[in-house]
Amino acid sequence: MGTNTLMPDMTDMEFREALAKVGDWIANYRKRVGELPVLAQTAPGRIERALPQQAPVQGEPLESWLRDLDELILPGITHWNHPGFMAYFGITASAPGILGELVSGMFNVNGMLWKTSPALVELEQVVMRWYAAAMGLPADWFGMITDTASTSTLVALAAAREAAGLNIREDGLSGKPPLVLYCSQEAHSSVDKAGLVLGVGTKGIRHIPSDDLFRMRCDALREAIERDLREERRPFAVVASVGTTSVTAVDPVPEIARICRHYGLWLHVDAAYAGTASIAPEFRWALEGCDQADSLVTNPHKWLFTPIDCSALFTRRPEVFRNAFSLIPEYLRTGAQGVVDLMDYSFQLGRRFRALKLWFVFRYFGTDGIAARIREHVRLAGELAGWVDAHPQLERLAPVNFSVVCFRVHPRGMDDEVELERLNSTVIEKVNAGGEIFISHTKIRGKYSIRVAIGNLQTTKDRVRRAFELICAAGGIWIGGGIGGRTQCC
Ligand code: PLP
Repeated sequence: MGTNTLMPDMTDMEFREALAKVGDWIANYRKRVGELPVLAQTAPGRIERALPQQAPVQGEPLESWLRDLDELILPGITHWNHPGFMAYFGITASAPGILGELVSGMFNVNGMLWKTSPALVELEQVVMRWYAAAMGLPADWFGMITDTASTSTLVALAAAREAAGLNIREDGLSGKPPLVLYCSQEAHSSVDKAGLVLGVGTKGIRHIPSDDLFRMRCDALREAIERDLREERRPFAVVASVGTTSVTAVDPVPEIARICRHYGLWLHVDAAYAGTASIAPEFRWALEGCDQADSLVTNPHKWLFTPIDCSALFTRRPEVFRNAFSLIPEYLRTGAQGVVDLMDYSFQLGRRFRALKLWFVFRYFGTDGIAARIREHVRLAGELAGWVDAHPQLERLAPVNFSVVCFRVHPRGMDDEVELERLNSTVIEKVNAGGEIFISHTKIRGKYSIRVAIGNLQTTKDRVRRAFELICAAGGIWIGGGIGGRTQCC
């Protein structure tokens, strides 16, 4: 039998010392992250096997946790904060964001009700208004923070289902006409997943074809809605994308909004990646027409330098969210009047104090600082696109709207798609194995594409140039000249 010693939490002195040590560890990591191999240096199961199978019976000193962090955990980290991380969407946990996360953990408040944390609720409301206004969206929209765009879209589409007036909240789906949801063929899979959860079913999700610029085709959207109405299904929502995942295309939101108004459909905008770009005035065009949307999601944990997780969900119709979700058991009644109880607007009860990190980010960078960085990332992507375009054996596969460049190595005379896919996937594997750069891929109209996404605060022109050179070398092609580039053979 074990001893029954009541172990206290750390003393004030112990905690200060531990904070200093962990703080040093974090600062050292941040300083040298660019020198580490960007991809995890591990194999499936290795970390699991290296860890004890049971929790320690006696507590262990901080030094041993930090040692394990270095020896066991660090090799298994894919460094999203690395300046060479150019896969998926490049992101950054900025220093102010990390500090906000730390303070949030320290407060340990749960913002389910205004009463359970007035500061969380009110700061969240204010920061969401700052964010909306900075992007040029109506500042009187209701905003709330969720964990991810997947959750935000799910919650928004649940509100859309409620707005359809089918009384599904009381009756459930049984006996109702089949629901139909529309998005472009380029939309993110989170839209499909929301449809699955909401009982729309894969058969009720229409992937509308896109045009030459990968934007949803409004004529095809109209036709699909008309067909569904004729066949007695129940269209209820359209999801427009501002910055699609593969190629960052922007759907024609003003026209889609007109269609939604005409047919009485909810318009949700997925601006998870590109919404933030419109903090820079020259990218305001991307959110044109979005003021007509019923809801919109954008992710500070993508391009707003805020540590994951942080997703911003805006709506001009908060009362519909309340109708869909408000359910107050006796033990959560407070009698507080004129306050926002966030649990009324989504399925989740408990919620973290995420607004703190976003608040710190805004206060450190200011909207000008954020806009300048967005501009720089787009400029870097433009430089890369220029080098690609100048190279006779590289083929760009999509326009560069923001900070993502899609292209492939395409040697003269090699036109078989299978062969090209094999070549380009090998290029990616070789580049990623080197440890300096991490890039990912997509398929564009059936063509396998290298996809380079710039979004980290530490990514410089040299790093982007290096990515370009490594891709050329891995593809066995000349490293082209281009702006500031050296010309050499691989
Ligand atoms: N929407 C778009 C356009 C995305 O690119 C992504 C992820 O990359 C998502 C939604 C899902 O984001 P999350 O991981 O926050 O759920």
